[in-house]
Amino acid sequence: MITTVLGEINADKLGVALSHEHIFIDMRNCVTITGNEPRGFYDKFDVTSRADVALDPYAVLDNALLDGFENAKSELEYFKAYGGESIIDCTPDEIGRDPLALKKLSEETGINIVAGCGHYYHIAHYPYVKDASVAELADEMRNDILVGIKGTDVKAGIIGEIGTSATVTDDEKKVLTAAGIVGAETGKAVHVHTDLYTENGVDIVKRLINEGMKPEKICIDHIDVWLRPDYIKRLLDMGVYVEFDNFGKEFYVSEARRFAYDLERIKVLKSLIDLGYKDRILVTNDICLKSMWKMFGGMGYAHVLRGVRQMAYENGISEADYNAMLTDNVKKFID
Ligand SMILES: [Zn+2]
Repeated sequence: MITTVLGEINADKLGVALSHEHIFIDMRNCVTITGNEPRGFYDKFDVTSRADVALDPYAVLDNALLDGFENAKSELEYFKAYGGESIIDCTPDEIGRDPLALKKLSEETGINIVAGCGHYYHIAHYPYVKDASVAELADEMRNDILVGIKGTDVKAGIIGEIGTSATVTDDEKKVLTAAGIVGAETGKAVHVHTDLYTENGVDIVKRLINEGMKPEKICIDHIDVWLRPDYIKRLLDMGVYVEFDNFGKEFYVSEARRFAYDLERIKVLKSLIDLGYKDRILVTNDICLKSMWKMFGGMGYAHVLRGVRQMAYENGISEADYNAMLTDNVKKFID
């Protein structure tokens, strides 16, 4: 059974599902302010801001905020119009999780929504995380999953996304350990945000398995920001899921912080499918920026159901394999 914001559903009801998204998010506290911000940094984001964020998504601070019930609803309706049925919302509380709004959105759109729990990376942590014990952090996640999030009747159906920095901090290690304990105990899956340019996923997987988690309940996210096929294969050979979740993000912040292009992602995806790894790969957009929403000129939650799908087919990925990554794989991961 899968725990959605409206209660438990049979896993077969999940249908076409995005394995990692954010419907509401506020990442503004994670944006580094240097005091030397570009022109327009404090502007309200609108469709004319796209040129400002073409290379660096955080060149406009407001781009890091997704809010507004009606806005979110129209974005989900658009996703639904292209065959979307379910969304796993992996937003930790400190960056904008809103369980009651997710519940209302699910009721009004008919889309299944699964909510997350746990904590994001160090910079975002609530101050209390520093002093909390592993047992207290585990209790918090257990409560979100079994009782309800922050006094509501809305339960979390997945753990994560748990955040980790380039150098995994002691507080992040505590949260990871707690996630591993609760994941092993409840059977819920864990999504881990790994630093975009390091190869921390291997040690993180070991830590979670050490707490008793099964590899098939662990997903290492963001492995497609900068493509390193050997690293991805090392993870896959540990039996975990890897997630291609940056479709639609083709940024160039600097030479050291560039993002791969969607077409490059598809070519690596195809090579991994050819090697027999299809069953452990998830495909999604991880929408976390205004510039990605349709209403701001972005490709919206349907991107992997439209443009990316076309790219996949034209690069030799079969319809059956592509669809399996958006249906069966998500179902098996979170069921
Ligand atoms: Zn995310």
